[in-house]
Amino acid sequence: MTSIATLGSHCALQVLKGAKDEGFKTILVCEKKREKLYRRFKFIDKLILVDSFLELSEQKCSSELKDEDAVIIPHGTFISQMDSLQIESIKIPIFGNKWILRWESDRKMKEKLMIESKLNVPKTIPSPKEINTLVIAKRHGAAGGKGYFLATSEKDYNKKRDKLIVQGIIKGDNDLYLQEYAFGVSAYLQYFYSPLTSELEFFGVDRRYESDIDGLGRIPAPQQMDIDLIPSFNVIGNSPIVLRESLLDEVYSMGERFVDTAKNLVAPGMNGPFCLEGVYDDNGKFTTFEFSARIVAGTNLYVDGSPYSAFLYNEPMSMGRRIAREIKIAKKENHLTKITT
Ligand code: AMP
Repeated sequence: MTSIATLGSHCALQVLKGAKDEGFKTILVCEKKREKLYRRFKFIDKLILVDSFLELSEQKCSSELKDEDAVIIPHGTFISQMDSLQIESIKIPIFGNKWILRWESDRKMKEKLMIESKLNVPKTIPSPKEINTLVIAKRHGAAGGKGYFLATSEKDYNKKRDKLIVQGIIKGDNDLYLQEYAFGVSAYLQYFYSPLTSELEFFGVDRRYESDIDGLGRIPAPQQMDIDLIPSFNVIGNSPIVLRESLLDEVYSMGERFVDTAKNLVAPGMNGPFCLEGVYDDNGKFTTFEFSARIVAGTNLYVDGSPYSAFLYNEPMSMGRRIAREIKIAKKENHLTKITT
């Protein structure tokens, strides 16, 4: 019997709850320090305890998952804790396209995929010397906004970069990527693409609540000026939003362009869940500053379905459950290789 497995972090609860609801055996690869937390949830059938998630690519963990006929669901913790080679060398079938995860981690590849998808992308600033507008300095990989900062000049950038070096968060300029800051209302658009039906489903949208930048808005400007703080963009949680209905057509068009481009650039394409992340300006135009090529934690909001999944399914459908449904259908039709890599 096929089982569904993931790492104990990020959106593991939603993924395994969805898998259980679809009738799968559920397995969590769990760091020993989090065992107590995850044992609380009865829908998790089995815990494989590890000291580090890197053990996923080791023989012992692999053969245990193989014996369980497991499909692994990748999420943000895979990207933040393993490098692309480690992810690609996992011997167990991974849901979606593991090759596209490299395109998420590598800034240059990421930019190429977004630009070729004809998304409106903020300008990359090639060197701190060329900062002449508000820019955001971002770390590589899925850092979750930790250690990101804003700068308006090279001098300002150098000062903040040096502070992060002293704090041991970065080593130097090579750890940072500079992008023009995009103003507007942030929105993280959650999609699911099924290679079985060739259909794109818009699943929901969320906003992130990020520390310190969002907390700073609660302090009046004079006090903000007084404190010596480099506000970071560390994600603390997510809140729901719904979009003006008139924006939906472009939401689908952007998602479709992304899926089409991914098919050409990185076979077998953008299969399964993904997210386009950006801001809407005052004309309702979306600027995409990032994408995630796998399930995002913002989908944790909608364990019982979202205002958008309700239009597609007559039952509560979380992203985790949607993934499990896809595996169930593929298995029945003998098409598991179409939806895993
Ligand atoms: P990311 O890791 O790219 O998702 O970025 C973390 C957070 O930084 C986002 O949720 C945004 O709040 C912010 N951010 C990243 N890039 C930009 C940008 N180009 N313009 C404005 N905000 C950004």
